[in-house]
Amino acid sequence: MDTTSSDRTFWKSSQNFAVRLMQHLVTPTFVLDPDRRVIIWNRACERLTGVPASEVLGSADHWRGFYDQPRLCLADILMLERTDELYQLYAAHALPSPENQGLRAENWCVMPRLGNRLYLAIDAGPIYDDDGTLIAVVETLRDMTEQKLAEIALQDLATKDGLTGIANRRFLDESLRQEWLRAQRNAQPLSFLLADVDHFKRFNDTYGHQRGDECLRAVAGMVSAKVFRPADLVGRYGGEEFAIVMPGTDLDGAISVAERVREAVEAMDIQHRASDTASHITLSIGVASVVPTSAVKPDVLVAAADAALYRAKHGGRNRVAQPPENLAFA
Ligand code: GH3
Ligand code: MG
Ligand code: MG
Repeated sequence: MDTTSSDRTFWKSSQNFAVRLMQHLVTPTFVLDPDRRVIIWNRACERLTGVPASEVLGSADHWRGFYDQPRLCLADILMLERTDELYQLYAAHALPSPENQGLRAENWCVMPRLGNRLYLAIDAGPIYDDDGTLIAVVETLRDMTEQKLAEIALQDLATKDGLTGIANRRFLDESLRQEWLRAQRNAQPLSFLLADVDHFKRFNDTYGHQRGDECLRAVAGMVSAKVFRPADLVGRYGGEEFAIVMPGTDLDGAISVAERVREAVEAMDIQHRASDTASHITLSIGVASVVPTSAVKPDVLVAAADAALYRAKHGGRNRVAQPPENLAFA
């Protein structure tokens, strides 16, 4: 045997060895050749996707394991050098660095064959030959669904109200603080709405706390449904009080949102026979608006909305009011 043919035999057998080694890796892995055809699809990848190697080997159908319509996978992006598309295609990603020439990303994948949505952490690494030519890309996957769900649950716990699922008081306060600073920078109006369920103590006394809780959930849902701008934030301010932070909205705009919310809650027609105001659940709403300056604090806007709410209550309830003259900013 001459040297070249023994070299060839050596390479052939080490390639076989590499393929077998990958088959036994516990990490789901697949490998693409420079034409982006699958040359390795290991058993762990078969288990993760439910797609057998025989279906994808030699094809460019690797996306089928993860998504329900054709799209680039991380290995394709690396091979095609289309890293500018990472933003659109992945929930999170890291770009190549001097220490790591590969790509790293995270995404919710629909796993069509198995029908279970998984959050995957994905790495794509390049393989070069001795001349520095890219000859393959290895993609490895890690199932991070449990960790991601735990992270989302923790985030929800910290930001959402347990009863109604809308933003909690802490998140509302923080959003108001941030929107205040942004509105100040942009010299834009910021509005705050405070809605309070009328005679709610009597509702609880008449129908019980459980029905009271159901009522608060229904009202929260309706208030959210009537707020159309993505920048607006609806939250539970306190017991039977709801608030809306409305960036870029002046007093007239805030009054029309308030009127829409008030009418929608009234139209739900939740029976309230002990109310003095109507035979159904109603809201009193105070709104205030300001173009923030460094001279005033967000508390002043909240106090103005609270004073407006007081006026709505004393004006007969089931109505929208703005602050008295001395607290009107805009
Ligand atoms: P007004 O029209 O002046 O607002 O009268 P009100 O009875 O609504 O006002 P008040 O502040 O006296 O009572 C608020 C009631 O809201 C009392 C409290 O038991 C009830 N409440 C607060 N939080 C909850 C809750 O999470 N669930 C239930 N069921 N009731 C709640
Ligand atoms: Mg109240
Ligand atoms: Mg009330």
